[in-house]
Amino acid sequence: MREVSSWGRLGRVPHDVVRPAFLDELGALPGTAGAPLLCYGMGRSYGDVCLNSGGRLIVTDALDRIIRFDRERGILRAEAGLTIDRLLRVTVPQGWFAPVVPGTKFVTLGGAVANDVHGKNHEHVGTFGAHVTALGLLRSSGEMLTLSRDENAELFAATIGGLGLTGVMAWVELQLAPITSAMIDTETFALDDLADFFKRAEESRHWTYTVAWIDCLAKGAHTGRGFFTRGRHAEKGDLTVHKPPRLDVPFDAPGFLLNTQTISLFNLLYRHRPFVLGEKRMHYEPFLFPLDAVAHWNRLYGRRGFFQHQSAVPMANAFDTTRKLLELTAEFGEGSFLAVLKLFGDEPSPGLVSFPLPGATLALDFPNKGESTRRLLDRMQDVVLGAGGRLYPAKDATMSGEAFRTGFPAWRKLEAQRDPAVMSDFWRRVTAEAA
Ligand SMILES: Cc1cc2nc3c(=O)[nH]c(=O)nc-3n(C[C@H](O)[C@H](O)[C@H](O)COP(=O)(O)OP(=O)(O)OC[C@H]3O[C@@H](n4cnc5c(N)ncnc54)[C@H](O)[C@@H]3O)c2cc1C
Repeated sequence: MREVSSWGRLGRVPHDVVRPAFLDELGALPGTAGAPLLCYGMGRSYGDVCLNSGGRLIVTDALDRIIRFDRERGILRAEAGLTIDRLLRVTVPQGWFAPVVPGTKFVTLGGAVANDVHGKNHEHVGTFGAHVTALGLLRSSGEMLTLSRDENAELFAATIGGLGLTGVMAWVELQLAPITSAMIDTETFALDDLADFFKRAEESRHWTYTVAWIDCLAKGAHTGRGFFTRGRHAEKGDLTVHKPPRLDVPFDAPGFLLNTQTISLFNLLYRHRPFVLGEKRMHYEPFLFPLDAVAHWNRLYGRRGFFQHQSAVPMANAFDTTRKLLELTAEFGEGSFLAVLKLFGDEPSPGLVSFPLPGATLALDFPNKGESTRRLLDRMQDVVLGAGGRLYPAKDATMSGEAFRTGFPAWRKLEAQRDPAVMSDFWRRVTAEAA
């Protein structure tokens, strides 16, 4: 047994870990006999969707070969352990970009499908799953199935955003997006308050990428102040790929490092960095993956780890709910290091249990201070549910079963398609008391 944790580092749990190097080794793995199994990509989920305490964990990072790449049409098929990091290294020089990228490129294709991840361009292109043209899925029956919108369509829909529960994805095929430069043309504005965010977001709808950084310790009339950034791929420039991270956090930072004072100082500095504002042409790396500059930054939160709250609320309630969530955060003074706010569009996902909905999404990190942090997260959950919203399983470690089932009413259909040999700590937690 080996102890494994996820990105939030809230605990290390024992698993029977296997790390296949070739797809044909997967065939021997499933089977309903024995402990339940689960795949683990890069463990960039914050909570327990990628954990399976006491069970088998199939770590997929060595399954990272490109199977075929049609450079004319931009269609790439690769083993599901291929990371977006490696994918971009191969495709950018050929003029193709991943259609959707989350805030880190250190995620596997399998992980991106299982959480149906979204990027800063959700309003234009929807989720990752919308660009998946086919999947290879191994079931515990031993069958290797090809899934697409036309073939095994129900299982395809259940697998996109299916939290890894429908079986082991062996390969993923996706349609890439054409680019003519690795550079992004960006514009950044200061936001005075939350109303400013919604105004900027509305007038920026024609920009490919939009996101806001919010100072989550600002109170009263300043609630929602921060920066708004928008960007689009430049038309001219080199097709140069990104470089590996230059900085590392080699060990756990002491718990006191990220206290309310240091965090508010950080936010203040960020707000007043004059070079942030205005028009800039920058490489896709700092624009799309700013946190990747520092490897293992999650160690900054110390030994006890950290939580993330990420919610999505319908547009009609977006302003009031976001304000309530930011006010609660400031009131509790738990010290959020990161507050990211953006709008989701109405592009439907092909997935059954996908997180985004038309509206706004807010993401905040909280150092784990125990009970007080959990109380805050519970309060935030209630606000989100009351507004007809939902929490993101990829980021979650605390949502109640009821909150999950209310937020994702199609969960029973996913349960019906779940492979009987597969289970996760998340699924155990949120379905436990459901009849
Ligand atoms: C800094 C940072 C920024 C982020 N920004 C965003 C963002 O902007 N948008 C967003 O949507 N998410 C974001 N995330 C979350 C991240 O994109 C997701 O959690 C993603 O799923 C992680 O991929 P992974 O390869 O690490 O998968 P893991 O976290 O290891 O696993 C995630 C799920 O995928 C399943 N899985 C993995 N491989 C397979 C396979 N081969 N077959 C079947 N199931 C499989 C696992 O069982 C698990 O359920 C961010 C995370 C970090 C750390």
